[in-house]
Amino acid sequence: MHKVYLKSGKEESLKRFHPWVFSGAIASIEGKVQEGEVVEVYTSKKEFIAKGHYQIGSIAVRVLSFLQDETIDLDFWKRKLHIAYDMRRSIGLTTNPANNTYRLVHGEGDNLPGLVIDVYAKTAVMQAHSAGMHLERMTIAEALSEIMEGKIENIYYKSETTLPYKADLYPENGFLKGGSTDNIAQEYGLKFHIDWLKGQKTGFFVDQRENRALLERYAPGRSVLNMFCYTGGFSVYAMRGNAKLVHSVDSSAKAIALTNNNIELNFPDDTRHTAFAEDAFKYLDQMGDQYDLIVLDPPAFAKHRDALRNALQGYRKLNLKAFEKIKPGGILFTFSCSQAVSKENFRTTVFTAAAMSGRSVRILHQLTQPADHPVNIYHPEGEYLKGLVLYVE
Ligand code: SAH
Repeated sequence: MHKVYLKSGKEESLKRFHPWVFSGAIASIEGKVQEGEVVEVYTSKKEFIAKGHYQIGSIAVRVLSFLQDETIDLDFWKRKLHIAYDMRRSIGLTTNPANNTYRLVHGEGDNLPGLVIDVYAKTAVMQAHSAGMHLERMTIAEALSEIMEGKIENIYYKSETTLPYKADLYPENGFLKGGSTDNIAQEYGLKFHIDWLKGQKTGFFVDQRENRALLERYAPGRSVLNMFCYTGGFSVYAMRGNAKLVHSVDSSAKAIALTNNNIELNFPDDTRHTAFAEDAFKYLDQMGDQYDLIVLDPPAFAKHRDALRNALQGYRKLNLKAFEKIKPGGILFTFSCSQAVSKENFRTTVFTAAAMSGRSVRILHQLTQPADHPVNIYHPEGEYLKGLVLYVE
């Protein structure tokens, strides 16, 4: 196994179990290491400190183990996946017959940097974000089959857009096990078509589950606008929550079709719902003041830190329009899923928009990602989803 030697003092973050080694921390690498290989990391004093996947880029090693004698083999993946599954089981996510949708592996949050696995009924969708996880996909799939024996029948691998293109890995999306097209999963008793073949991410945004359930409580009698609806998750919960009317908006015609499908699946022929394929800013400009419950769940405006300023401006503009138009006594659910936007940045931006609108605004809830997207305390950057529920007088 190739050895990576750190510069003096650069072992500190690893001593605190942070799972990344940045390329700038490396003094030298022994031998000719290939991308995706498991390497051993040593301090400048030549003491072993970690083992992980090597990759060319700013994050050079993603740590899999802090133990020298741990071999990265089938048993390793089984142990890790079992720990992840056990956590979901112990918090009741795998035993609720009305809910068969959850995230089984959340990268660094589960000490498996570069790997995401979502479960949709009998299908697991696996996504690699690092060359190392891509190379290990078959062993991981085997481990997953064994530990989920009887619980899942299909494993779909979906990494065409998540791997660094420079690594020349040419990943192909496809089934590693099974091949079912039955793609209806249940989230808290509501049915959703999951489009793992063509949909964004693994096909569904599992991370808004608890926030959607909260919205249901506020829906009775309200006129709801679900902006950036994608699969219509919030809309379906609003319908069950007895909203007076629900309007779903997304600029993608495909998202609108998915939303209409999911509404039809749960509330056939219910005339309370209408979906519009329209740009958010244009829709918010042109709409009237009929809504008293608005959801703003935009895509990550800032994918990188450099884009932060523009992203914050985008969030401010968006929220300002909602504050200006929402009915007195209305409730605004507003989110940011950009990792580059901190909780403080997000709050300040939303509060600035509120102040600009001149409305009196109170915080009802401060939201984040659910328990199946855990934040590793040694990797606080993993906290990415931020939300506020606001009462607008
Ligand atoms: N709220 C959704 C997830 C939203 S993902 C859920 O609960 O699952 C973000 C969505 O925003 C995508 O579907 C994308 O098509 C849409 N989008 C991106 N830019 C947009 C724009 N300018 N106007 C409207 N929708 C946009």
